[in-house]
Amino acid sequence: MTSIDFLTFLEEGFCARDIVEQKINESTSSDDKDAFYVADLGDVLKKHLRWARTLPRVTPFYAVKCNDSRPVVETLATLGAGFDCASKTEIQLVQSLGVEPSRIIYANPCKQVSQIKYASAHGVQMMTFDSEVELMKVARSHDNAKLVLRIATDDSKAVCRLSVKFGATLKSSRLLLERAKELGLDIIGVSFHVGSGCTDPQTYAQAIADARYVFDMGAELGYSMTLLDIGGGFPGSDDSKLKFEEITAVINPALDKYFPADCGVRIIAEPGRFYVASAYTLAVNIIAKKVNMKEQSGSDDPPGSLAPLHSHQLTSHVFSRV
Ligand SMILES: *Cc1c(COP(=O)(O)O)cnc(C)c1O
Repeated sequence: MTSIDFLTFLEEGFCARDIVEQKINESTSSDDKDAFYVADLGDVLKKHLRWARTLPRVTPFYAVKCNDSRPVVETLATLGAGFDCASKTEIQLVQSLGVEPSRIIYANPCKQVSQIKYASAHGVQMMTFDSEVELMKVARSHDNAKLVLRIATDDSKAVCRLSVKFGATLKSSRLLLERAKELGLDIIGVSFHVGSGCTDPQTYAQAIADARYVFDMGAELGYSMTLLDIGGGFPGSDDSKLKFEEITAVINPALDKYFPADCGVRIIAEPGRFYVASAYTLAVNIIAKKVNMKEQSGSDDPPGSLAPLHSHQLTSHVFSRV
């Protein structure tokens, strides 16, 4: 990658692909045919408007790990989004853009002690946890943490499963709530992540119901929790198996059922791919190509034999979403 163009296309009918084609035409006559990509910040803006229209009760906290380029983060900061940071570096980036600490959740359930201290020194209070060890680390490294208990979900139908490594079971949630009480820690809410590339919207409904169960369990132990974080997993482009609106059609009624508007619970989410997947278009230069004869019918070649094309340098570009 040699060049990055950040452009906002708000004009009707003008899109990132036009810029890509223009650049390809410019490079055909030169020797510089390196791969490049174009970022369309207007696409990020459109996603934000779509989010606000479709999930009006849910404040997005963009998951910085999905794309930490400054223009993307800056655009979302200007639009008023919050941020899900997974590390000190991400907190530094977001704060360098003037985002106040209340708009940041340190949503990594396994944190380095030095980085918990960094968050504490810089006013970042909201952070997730899913184990007793993490509670003990936070108790000795942060004066004012507002903890969010991350629960596991059934992510068996997601492309990228996250509950394999993160999230407490409902059974261990009770123990963690009790342990936090003993340590004098404040638990303000519950979070989950259904896994990236979620293909079954019912996973969200089940996780929201489970979160309600943990809220009630917390109430029995004297916590009055005020934050529900429904995580990420939302598709970033319209060619995904499950459409964003098909998911929100399940989420909205589940929220209204388990966390009605007047229940005093603030709802946030941590969309990552949703905001950035379709904003980037990659153009690559195909420098060689091999054809697998096995897949061509009527071939006399033995199965699996490869036939290299004789033109070793093809100059055509292909488009791909990154
Ligand atoms: C990766 C990640 C996200 C973003 O996930 P998407 O599926 O890209 O929306 C949100 N929260 C946490 C804790 C993550 O690890």
